[in-house]
Amino acid sequence: MSRKQAFQFLDLPRTMPQRIPVELRTSGDWGELYGKFGKEDAQFQAGRCLDCGNPYCSWKCPVHNAIPQWLQLVQENRIHEAATLCHSTNPLPEVCGRVCPQDRLCEGSCTLEEFGAVTIGAVEKYIVDTALATGWRPDMTAVEPTGKRVAVIGAGPAGLACADQLAHAGIQAVVYDRYEQIGGLLQFGIPSFKLDKAVISRRRNVLEGMGVQFRLGVEIGRDVSVDQLLAEYDAVFVGTGAYRYTDGGLLGQDLKGVLPALPFLVQNSRIVGGSDAHGRPIAGWEDQIALPDLDGKRVVVLGGGDTGMDCVRSAVRLGAAKVTCAYRRDEASMPGSAREVANAREEGVRFLFNRQPLSIEAGADDEVIGVMVVETQLGAPDASGRRNAVPVEGSESLLEADVVIIAFGFSPSTPAWLIERGVEAGHNGRIIAGGQGRLPFQTAHPRLFAGGDAVRGADLVVTAVAEGRDAAASIAQLLSA
Ligand SMILES: Cc1cc2nc3c(=O)[nH]c(=O)nc-3n(C[C@H](O)[C@H](O)[C@H](O)COP(=O)(O)OP(=O)(O)OC[C@H]3O[C@@H](n4cnc5c(N)ncnc54)[C@H](O)[C@@H]3O)c2cc1C
Repeated sequence: MSRKQAFQFLDLPRTMPQRIPVELRTSGDWGELYGKFGKEDAQFQAGRCLDCGNPYCSWKCPVHNAIPQWLQLVQENRIHEAATLCHSTNPLPEVCGRVCPQDRLCEGSCTLEEFGAVTIGAVEKYIVDTALATGWRPDMTAVEPTGKRVAVIGAGPAGLACADQLAHAGIQAVVYDRYEQIGGLLQFGIPSFKLDKAVISRRRNVLEGMGVQFRLGVEIGRDVSVDQLLAEYDAVFVGTGAYRYTDGGLLGQDLKGVLPALPFLVQNSRIVGGSDAHGRPIAGWEDQIALPDLDGKRVVVLGGGDTGMDCVRSAVRLGAAKVTCAYRRDEASMPGSAREVANAREEGVRFLFNRQPLSIEAGADDEVIGVMVVETQLGAPDASGRRNAVPVEGSESLLEADVVIIAFGFSPSTPAWLIERGVEAGHNGRIIAGGQGRLPFQTAHPRLFAGGDAVRGADLVVTAVAEGRDAAASIAQLLSA
C-alpha cells in the first residue's frame, strides 16, 4: 500500500445518506428519516475502510458481522456475495442497518472514529436493500430436511432469528404471535421514521420463501397452550419480549394527560391499536389509552432511552408546540443513541438533563399542569457502575406541560404458563435460560428454550437476534442428539 493510499481516509470524509428536511419532519412527515446510498456513495464509504487488521467493528458487534469483508465486496460491486456474507451472521441485516445504535457498536469502535467512522450501517442497508431488490434470496439448496418441527413463540427479532437458523438447519419452524403482523417491537414499537414497515413485510416474504410458517393472531397461554405446543413439536423457543412497564410510581401518574410510552407509540404506528387479530385487548394492555390530540400542546417526556427518543420525535410529528425530554442524569449517561438525540434536537426537542421527576401536578380540573422536578448531581457509582443521580436540595421547579409521556423502560415477566412447566423466573421477571448443565438458552424444561428481551431484559434488536440464533443452534444440537 502506498503512503497516499494509507492516508486517503484523511481526504475522504464520512458521509451519511441524505435526510428528510427538518421542515417536513416537523410538519408531520413519518417517512424513514435517512435516504439510501447509491452505488457510488456506498463504494466511497466502503473504500474508506482501512482493513486495519484488528476489526474492532466486528468484535463490538453482538453478532460479529464480517464488516471489513463485506465492505471489500461492496467496493468490488459484488453485492449478492456481500448480502450472503451479511446473512451468514445476521438474518435481519437491513433492520440492523437502520436501527442499531452504530455509534455505540461497530462505528463507535471503527479505527477511523476520530476522523469520522466508516458509515457501516448505511452500507449494510444498501447491500441488503439492493440485493433483495435484484432477486437475491438465501440459498437453501443444500439444506436437508430433518423431519423435526419447532414452535417459536413471538415473531420479534429473537423469534425471527431463531426461525431463520432453524430453517437453515433443516428444521421446520412455525412462528406464533398474538399480533397479526410479524416483527414484534420492530412493527409496533419503533416508529416508521426509523424503520419503514414495508421492510418487515419484505422480510416476511423472504422467511416464508425459506419455509418458515407463521400462525399470527394466536396468543400462547390463551388460544393455544404450551402443553399443546410441546405435544405437537420437538421443541419450543420462547421470544416473548419485555412488556412490563416501569411507571416510576410517581404521584399523579394516573392523571388525565399522562400516557405510558408504548401504547402511545403503538397507537401512532397506526397498524395495531393494542388489540389482537380478533379485536381483543392484548394481555397486559387492557388499560388502553385514548390518545389525546397533541396539536399545539406542551409535551414532556420522562426518560432518556430509545423509547423516550421515539416519543419526543413522534410528539413533534403530531404537531406538539413544545417538546421537552427530562432525564435525571447528564447527557453522557443517556442510554439512547447519540444519533437519535441529535436528530431530536434538530427537530426542536429541548433536553433538560439532571432533572429528576418528583410528581405530576394537576390543576383545578384534574388535568395535568406539569411535572415537579428536582435538579440532580452525579454521585457515586451504583452496583452496575452507573453514577447515581443525587437530588440537589431546594432546586425543585415545575416543568409546565399539557401532556406527560412516561418512558422509563420495560422489563420482562415470565408467564405463569411457563412457570407451571418448571421454567424458572429471575427476581426481575426474566426467564432463566442457560447455565450449569444446560445448553445455551435452554430453560429448566429441557425442550423449552428462550432468548431476547424475555431473557436479558429490554435491550437491542441485534442482541435479540444474537440470542435467537444461538438458541436455534442449541435446539439443533438437542434434536440431533
Ligand atoms: C419504543 C422502542 C424503540 C426501540 N428502538 C430501538 C432501536 O432503535 N434500536 C434497537 O436496537 N432496539 C430498539 N428497541 C429495542 C428492541 O426493539 C427490542 O430489544 C427487540 O425488539 C427485542 O426483541 P424480542 O424478539 O426479544 O422481543 P419483541 O420485539 O418484543 O417481540 C416479542 C413478540 O412476542 C409476542 N408475544 C409475546 N407474548 C406472546 C404470547 N403469549 N403469544 C404469542 N405471542 C407473544 C409479541 O407480540 C411480540 O411480537 C426499542 C424498543 C422500544 C420499546
